[in-house]
Amino acid sequence: MAQMFMDGSWADPSGDSREVQDPATLDVIDAIADATPGDVDAAVANAKAAMKDWAATDVSKRGAILRKAADHLDAHRDELVASLVREQGKPTMEAMGEFNHFTNGLRFYGELASKVRGTYQDLPSQFGRSYGLTLRRPIGVVAAIIPWNFPLTLFANKVGPALAAGNTVVAKPAETTPLTTLRAVELMTEAGVPAGVINVVTGGPTTGEALITHPDIARVAFTGQTSTGQRIAELAGKQLKRVSLELGGSDPTIVLNDADVETAVKTIQIGRYWNCGQMCLAPKRAFIQADVYDQFVDTLVGRVERYEPGQGDSKAEKPKLRIGPLHTAQQLEVLQAQLADAVDRGAKVLTGGTVPDTGLGGHFFQPAVVVDVPRDSRLATEEVFGPVLPIWRVDDLDDAFERANDTTYGLGASIWTQNAGAIDRAMREIEAGMTWVNQLHYGYDEMPFGGIKMSGMGKEHGAEALEEYVESKSIVVGGLGS
Ligand code: NAD
Repeated sequence: MAQMFMDGSWADPSGDSREVQDPATLDVIDAIADATPGDVDAAVANAKAAMKDWAATDVSKRGAILRKAADHLDAHRDELVASLVREQGKPTMEAMGEFNHFTNGLRFYGELASKVRGTYQDLPSQFGRSYGLTLRRPIGVVAAIIPWNFPLTLFANKVGPALAAGNTVVAKPAETTPLTTLRAVELMTEAGVPAGVINVVTGGPTTGEALITHPDIARVAFTGQTSTGQRIAELAGKQLKRVSLELGGSDPTIVLNDADVETAVKTIQIGRYWNCGQMCLAPKRAFIQADVYDQFVDTLVGRVERYEPGQGDSKAEKPKLRIGPLHTAQQLEVLQAQLADAVDRGAKVLTGGTVPDTGLGGHFFQPAVVVDVPRDSRLATEEVFGPVLPIWRVDDLDDAFERANDTTYGLGASIWTQNAGAIDRAMREIEAGMTWVNQLHYGYDEMPFGGIKMSGMGKEHGAEALEEYVESKSIVVGGLGS
């Protein structure tokens, strides 16, 4: 049974055990136990004890440790990628992409550790010369709650800025994908991250709630479903903890008549079907202007037909493309119900939508393209967390923007056009935390990323995320003579 990791070594959690499965074969890979409130207490105590020395560690040394950890992880890339494929289900190539994003993210914040700045200003005073300073101080122990779709990158997004700014962390990976994170943290410790600076507790929602409500947790960094985010905001709100919530999305993508349709199709295909469609930021509703609608649909269907569901560690024979399974049986059930709801009300499935006979036993689904989808159907109104793309024909920009914004979500959005006026309007009028113009929906390390509306609050990535891991303290200095 996999253990928890705290204070630089392994520890046995005391709660009930649960299996970790390979979603492609349903083979049991390992087991974990749910950390109890007592286990959580021990992990938080370790993180708190480590905080003083870590916050006082020279900033260049903190940065160097993060970069060295990234190098050490890179030296174990094949092992970690194989572990990620096994517990998450994604194809090796996609796991490699996630792994590279993970270590790049750690390096990015390693570089920023020495660039956390405060301010100075002269102040008016009747009692001699006076000035004010704002210090940027670490906040304290951070709870990092991570989902199963990108276990490594979503861990880096939190632990990178948290450590760079001098905080310590207790992470809780998803109960279905704890193994690669645990091994990664062991390797980071080998590379020089001091004991207690990163701790990992295993378990599900109960463990998560024990962690975020612990009185010594100062900041909660959460990625997951909107409904879970609401619960976390409620719990953390009672104790006025600092919170960032990276939640669900239903990104619109708009393709106008003057777009480079071939490139649009290629990137929308990658965005929607990567990770078996289990992406927060992904084109999940496509709005295509009338003149290029048929070309877009036909080209996309041709490409989507090439997907061959199978195990992530084996390649499909060209021209087929490997796609992994959905991560859990529940994911598959929800996706099937969303699709059936649209079909019952008149939608047409142009390809896919069935459960393929892979003989493997996992939660496989043949990627789908759907048209004539009613506007009030679940495919249009809910987050679709699987490889299904609904496509609508739109008349003009006003129509496209009205449809794009007709959602409770506001994570990302994209537009495909060469028209400067349309791009300008998209930047201002689409309600989303991020808008891509003629580009893939992708979370760059360099750019702040986070949703509006029901997609959350706060930013991850970019120098901006560092701000979310420091508190500003004002100092007024006087009595210095003239
Ligand atoms: P989830 O909310 O079910 O679980 C996420 C994590 O929260 C897991 O570790 C889980 O154990 C924990 N958790 C669940 N209930 C909890 C509670 N009451 N208290 C504390 N912790 C609790 O999400 P999921 O199904 O694992 O992830 C998929 C969702 O994540 C999708 O909606 C997706 O859009 C979203 N997501 C968002 C982003 C983003 O950056 N906005 C990125 C990736 C995924």
